[in-house]
Amino acid sequence: MKTDVLLIGSGIMSSTLGVMLKELQPGLSVHLFEVTGKPAQEASNGWNNAGTGHAGICELSYTPHQEEDGTVDITKAISVFEDFEHSLQFWAHAARRGIIKDTGECLNALPHISLVHTEEQVPYLKARFEGLKKHHFFEPMKHSTDRKEIEEWAPLLMQGRDPGQPVAATYMEGGTDVNFGEISRHFCEWLDEQDHCGAHFGHRVVDLYKKTLEKGWIVTVRNEETGEKQKVHADFVFVGAGGGSLPLLQKSGIPEVKGYGGFPIGGQWMITGNPEVVAKHTAKVYGQALGAAPTMAVPHLDTRVIDGERYLLFGPFAAWTGKFLHNGGSHLDLPRSVRAGNILSLMRVGIHNLDLVKYLVEQGLQSKESRMRELRNFYPDAREEDWEVIDAGIRVQAIKQEPGEEPGIVHYGTEVLTSSDKTISALLGASPGASVSTQVMLECIQRCLPQLLESDEAKARMSEMIPNWNEDLKVDLARDRYLEIHGRAMADLNLV
Ligand SMILES: Cc1cc2nc3c(=O)[nH]c(=O)nc-3n(C[C@H](O)[C@H](O)[C@H](O)COP(=O)(O)OP(=O)(O)OC[C@H]3O[C@@H](n4cnc5c(N)ncnc54)[C@H](O)[C@@H]3O)c2cc1C
Repeated sequence: MKTDVLLIGSGIMSSTLGVMLKELQPGLSVHLFEVTGKPAQEASNGWNNAGTGHAGICELSYTPHQEEDGTVDITKAISVFEDFEHSLQFWAHAARRGIIKDTGECLNALPHISLVHTEEQVPYLKARFEGLKKHHFFEPMKHSTDRKEIEEWAPLLMQGRDPGQPVAATYMEGGTDVNFGEISRHFCEWLDEQDHCGAHFGHRVVDLYKKTLEKGWIVTVRNEETGEKQKVHADFVFVGAGGGSLPLLQKSGIPEVKGYGGFPIGGQWMITGNPEVVAKHTAKVYGQALGAAPTMAVPHLDTRVIDGERYLLFGPFAAWTGKFLHNGGSHLDLPRSVRAGNILSLMRVGIHNLDLVKYLVEQGLQSKESRMRELRNFYPDAREEDWEVIDAGIRVQAIKQEPGEEPGIVHYGTEVLTSSDKTISALLGASPGASVSTQVMLECIQRCLPQLLESDEAKARMSEMIPNWNEDLKVDLARDRYLEIHGRAMADLNLV
């Protein structure tokens, strides 16, 4: 079998790239191989992530502290918002084209709220609000320290709260709850229907090696049901295998992977489907990370809509794991990923992040009562019998050794690793991940397949998919343009 593009994995990354490439160059052959029997069963699955359309509205980790002059640096929040706008635009295009057939399965509008409840956090939140409010992305944001008003925004947050406790919140409409797994499913189904394309489930990529005489790769794929192996020749390979990406890259033998390691972090949620409780909360509410908590373990209380049902999810609670994947992963994944080139990075990361390791072990062993105590910081009247603990997805954080620098875990980043001849690219790291999938895949095309974007016709096609792909919407002068295209995308996605 021969294909122009081979995609590994059916999560939001590979499936986004597949649709984007096929829309850009309809003549391309694109084949996607996925080990599980159904699309997006790992990190992108609705149950495995928080479904927050990360736009910097409520996540305090993008604006972590007040500067000495009392202001809060909002640069990162603005940039995350703009990246997410690319995704909204791309998904709106997919809805207009019938690629996403039912937007309600994929996206729901939800207010995004930030909540703080300590003396030192209250002035911080005000300063963050003052900074954000000046930018056109965040114009609709409201701020309050009035308990009644906050209760109107989200009743569960205030009922039963100690009247002496200082509280403050910001509130903004236009946030989203996203089922990234459903988007991936719609994308895979569409790709499978296109000429010269296919989405092959139950097919594990077991090996890949570089062609010697010409550019490209020979990829070995095993049918999980029959055990039969086939070799697929591909000019370009994208490794979007989530936790499975690092082992595959190591097999590819590209020198760029030397020094990279993976550090898996498991997760758990508390969940309730009690209709009485669920009916009282319609928002995503983020707080601040505590102690050694990694940024991805910032607690939040979210309305989720999954498979047409509403739930409240609280968490995530991080947990220690050795596995890189849920399905078919093994606690030996971490030790098996150790190579001469990354053993030093991994050892140093272990030594320099003992606090984190201790935190992960403690979090995983926490009793339900102690989890309830954390939940009651958000929802003081929460009753233990309404909530159960379920597993969340695994994030394999990328560890890399920069020349001359101490290795460290990349807590909040997505690393795209590309070979020098640009014939293979892979995504390592997991967060903020799914929300910025469109931007990450756009950059992948610009870096690895720039010839596909050269002609005026191709540029026009990209503008149809992502009107702002080569525009800066952040600058003041772009306010009207932003309002115009944002409004259209929100309407096409049924989010207004
Ligand atoms: C607890 C948690 C909360 C999160 N919350 C958010 C959030 O609120 N918002 C947000 O934007 N992001 C969030 N993320 C991050 C987001 O889920 C990920 O960044 C994103 O889903 C990664 O997508 P992916 O396509 O790279 O990987 P995945 O969705 O993991 O897909 C990889 C696919 O590759 C397949 N695969 C693996 N190995 C092979 C192989 N050898 N052959 C064939 N197929 C293979 C797997 O089966 C899987 O289907 C969260 C993640 C976690 C874990």
